[in-house]
Amino acid sequence: MIITDVTCECGASYRCAESHTLSGTAGEFVCVCCGELLESWTEPRERAYRLVTSTERLYAHPKVPPSPLHASPPVAAEAPVAG
Ligand SMILES: [Zn+2]
Repeated sequence: MIITDVTCECGASYRCAESHTLSGTAGEFVCVCCGELLESWTEPRERAYRLVTSTERLYAHPKVPPSPLHASPPVAAEAPVAG
């Protein structure tokens, strides 16, 4: 049995188990979150997919503020004046 991970463009991820001992049928797998065709196969193989992460469970990407290092020009260090 071969275990592979499949990720859809919508962010949903699946784990696929493909058996080499059981005979199955040709087929295709469609993402249950967005409906996009993820995989299709013509060999008579038995495949099973399990949804690992749905789009509803994904973490929201936080907005990253701009780096303060590049926002302002570098300040030149003043040399101490000998008096
Ligand atoms: Zn999808």
